[in-house]
Formats: sequence, structure tokens, C-alpha cells
Amino acid sequence: MNYQKILDTIHSEMSYRDVGGKVASYIPELAKIDPRKFGMHLYCGENQHYGFGDSEEKFSIQSISKVFSLCMAMNIMGEDLWERVDVEPSGNPFNSLTQLEQENGIPRNPFINAGALVISDILVDHLENPKEELLSFVRQITGDADIEYDETVASSEKSTGFRNIALVNYMKALGNIKCEVEPIIDFYFHQCSLRMSCRQLAKAFMIFANKGKVLENGEKIMRPEIVKRINALMQTCGFYDEAGEFSFEVGLPGKSGVGGGIVAIHPERYSVAVWSPILNEKGNSELGMKALEKLTTLTGVSVF
Ligand code: GLN
Repeated sequence: MNYQKILDTIHSEMSYRDVGGKVASYIPELAKIDPRKFGMHLYCGENQHYGFGDSEEKFSIQSISKVFSLCMAMNIMGEDLWERVDVEPSGNPFNSLTQLEQENGIPRNPFINAGALVISDILVDHLENPKEELLSFVRQITGDADIEYDETVASSEKSTGFRNIALVNYMKALGNIKCEVEPIIDFYFHQCSLRMSCRQLAKAFMIFANKGKVLENGEKIMRPEIVKRINALMQTCGFYDEAGEFSFEVGLPGKSGVGGGIVAIHPERYSVAVWSPILNEKGNSELGMKALEKLTTLTGVSVF
């Protein structure tokens, strides 16, 4: 497959001018991002990777980080994790509070904010230095030490993150949060502030295309049965109330973030990341979704 040629076609045929949404502004720092940014990078082997545009520029990965923290929580808790968080698509916006009351504080899945906050609680509860350990996990799977939190984005989100603080308090009232609210929120806003490029994200997500093996050195860091579960969750819940649409258009497991990034994987073939900060009304990158739809159409393969 000539992936570079396919990516070049996407680059030449698509632009931010084709989409009409807006850059995220509820986190004040994210509103400053240039809406014209557009990059894409695909890995299918250590020395087989292809990209275009702004694919080496770092951006705020936001909810894409929920996949990394879920990996760590699964490595700690195994299947017991599912007593604290469910595995069903929510059909609701990522920051919704509405289902928690009927469901006794058990979030629908680990990728909506409520679910990711329960995962944060688990990591804060079990790890000595959760922020440092998450950072070293991400660096390890990427094979790249040049990954950091963005303190400015983390404190910007802290200043406006009332819904997330409400979610933690509400779940604590319902008995599904063990730690204090402040360290959970601090950890969550930091994980969301991680800065990575499309190239780094695509490389990191090769563990999901490669049955849990780190691309850089072949080290088995996740058990294949855990990878299977995470891929299933990305397929069914990775795009919140647009998960059906993403499956329908693109046909790959993936995860989005309000920084405008999307990562998707084709098991045993490739991992691909795209970045365009203009979001649709569901909070997913509008151009990013279109570019991935084009990718699976031009390659003629998806998981379906
Ligand atoms: N940090 C963001 C929030 O909690 C992440 C949301 C997202 O990327 N969908 O609102």
C-alpha cells in the first residue's frame, strides 16, 4: 500500500476551509490555537511512517489521554475495574451528568468525563506519583522522552472546569470516588494537558495495533486480552454521542480530544493520528473525521 501517496491526496484535497465548526473555547488556552493547523501521520512499522502538514507539531491531546490512563488502570485492577465503570456507549455529550443518578454513580464508559474521572481516582489511589507515572508510561510506549504536560493548559482548565469538579463531587456523594476531590481533578487536568504530535500519537497507539507490543523495542507492555477490550471501547465509545457516526464513516476504533486530535488504529496494520482544531458540535475534529473517512475509503480497508 502506498500510504504516502494516499496521505498526499488527502492533504491536497482537504483543508480547514471546507469545515464550518469552531476551535474549543471553554478551556481558554485552547481558544488561542490556530484553526488552520492540519497534520496527519501514519505508522505501520518502526521505519515505516508517513505524514503531512503539521504532523510533527505538538498540541493538547485532551481526551485522547483517557486511553493511556485506562491502560494503566487496567494493568492495576484487571477485570475488577468494571465494577467501577461500565462499558456501554452513552449516547450523551462527553461532559454529561445526567445518567449518573439512575446508574448509582457508575459512569457508562471510561471515555466520557465521568468515567475518566473514576479512572483518575483509581490511579491517584494506587500510585505514589500518578502524574510522573502516567508521563513515564506515555514516554515508554512512544519510545520518546520528549513528552510533557502543558502547565498553562492544565491551570487554564482548572479555572473553568466546574462541570468536571461537579462530576467528581456527585460521584463521591454516590459512593464511587474514594480519594479527595482536589488530587483527582489535578491529575485529570494534567493528563488532558499532555502535548504530543500526530507522529508521537500514532507511534504510541501502535501498541493497540500490535497486541500490546511497544513499537520501538517490541516489549510486551499490555496483555493482548486487555488490548482487545480497549480497542472495543474505542470502537463503541471513543467519540461520545458521535461514536456511531465515526464507525459508520471511518470504520476503525479511535479516540478524539477537544484539542482537535483523533487517533485511530487498524489492528495488525497501522495506527494513524490527525490534527485539525476546528470541532463539530459534538466536540470532535471535523476535518480530522473527514480525513480519516477518506483514508479508509482510499485504502479500501477498515475493520469492517
Ligand atoms: N479536558 C477536557 C474536558 O474535560 C477533555 C474533553 C475532551 O477532549 N472531549 O472537558
